[in-house]
Amino acid sequence: MDVCVILTYRCNSRCSMCYAWQNPTRTEDEISLDTLRKIPSGINYLNLTGGEPTLRKDLLEIVDILYPKAMTFEISSNGLLAERLEPVIKKYPCTKIRFSLEGSEPTNSRIRGEKDGYRKKIEGLLRLKALGGEDIGFGAVIQDDNAGELVELFRLSRKYGLEFATSTLHNGFQFHKNDNVPYDRLKVAGHIGELVTEMLKGFNVKNWFRAYLNLGLMAKVLGQERILKCTAATDFVFIDPWSDVYACNVRPDLKLGNLETQEWDEIMNSPLAEEARAKVDQCTHNCWMVGSAKAAMRHPRFVKIPRAAPLMWVVYNKLKVTFGGTINFKRYLDYSNVPEDKEVSHRKFFLNENVRKRLQRKDEPHYQGFGEFFNR
Ligand code: SF4
Repeated sequence: MDVCVILTYRCNSRCSMCYAWQNPTRTEDEISLDTLRKIPSGINYLNLTGGEPTLRKDLLEIVDILYPKAMTFEISSNGLLAERLEPVIKKYPCTKIRFSLEGSEPTNSRIRGEKDGYRKKIEGLLRLKALGGEDIGFGAVIQDDNAGELVELFRLSRKYGLEFATSTLHNGFQFHKNDNVPYDRLKVAGHIGELVTEMLKGFNVKNWFRAYLNLGLMAKVLGQERILKCTAATDFVFIDPWSDVYACNVRPDLKLGNLETQEWDEIMNSPLAEEARAKVDQCTHNCWMVGSAKAAMRHPRFVKIPRAAPLMWVVYNKLKVTFGGTINFKRYLDYSNVPEDKEVSHRKFFLNENVRKRLQRKDEPHYQGFGEFFNR
């Protein structure tokens, strides 16, 4: 099973596609070390995220507890406080680090409301690599405002020997957002297609499978059904900063239990968990959240190998691209039925903006007042 822990909703970025920073948690309410100890060993993939996880002063203690429990251990960060990850990399160089980088300096600053973020992130990543970090890279949330820079970002990652991950706009409780929809779906999907081709041209096997993951993002952007079925609550769960365990980071109605007050096995075998799995089976969200996509791409029994569908796609299209052919995206995607979004609201950028924050308290009802977190 994969586990993603949202350590905090505090954040020092001001992103246009995630409002966690406008809805910070109180430090004293955030998931404790004792609660984190209840996560069992043998986790396939364990991801620490936020908000911004480096704002947790006890980050190294958290890593000490969780690193030994996972086959792959990742920290997703905005990279503005890269120095706080140096002790982690010195002690655990295999930790996978991903910084959010949305494009060139102006693009990144606009989307993420950051000043000088591009420079800080690249310098930080290179420092972590120089310290011995073995899996260091950055990721972008693909949207109208950066889709045209994707291939450039990929080339930048190759230039510095960094990894490049992608996701796209989603609505979900983790982001406290329900208006993340692309403005021009065909254009954004077209740019992702360019990246897919570029990824298949190289010799890095990881990038070939990332190409398939990006095919899934194209389907999501085009408003189509997922290319692989979701296995939330069976193959992965999310834990929020108040220790509530959810099937995924989108639907707050898929709560399985609370790790502070319950034990792990009790939660996973509870009637609520069964109910959530049944709901996941019927989920109608057009979603390709990275956590759900990665889990769906893996073989259900042999987690180190992919399922047949992604494997066949990769082999076929890698050969095609290698011998000078082009990928026939129409074979996999339906371009004739792209939704027209009449209600698209353009996302506001918060660089230099002063926005009032609404502190979320543990004892208040959560994720209410944002509308329905739906993906279409
Ligand atoms: S498909 Fe549904 S259950 Fe699966 S991650 Fe997306 S919103 Fe959650």
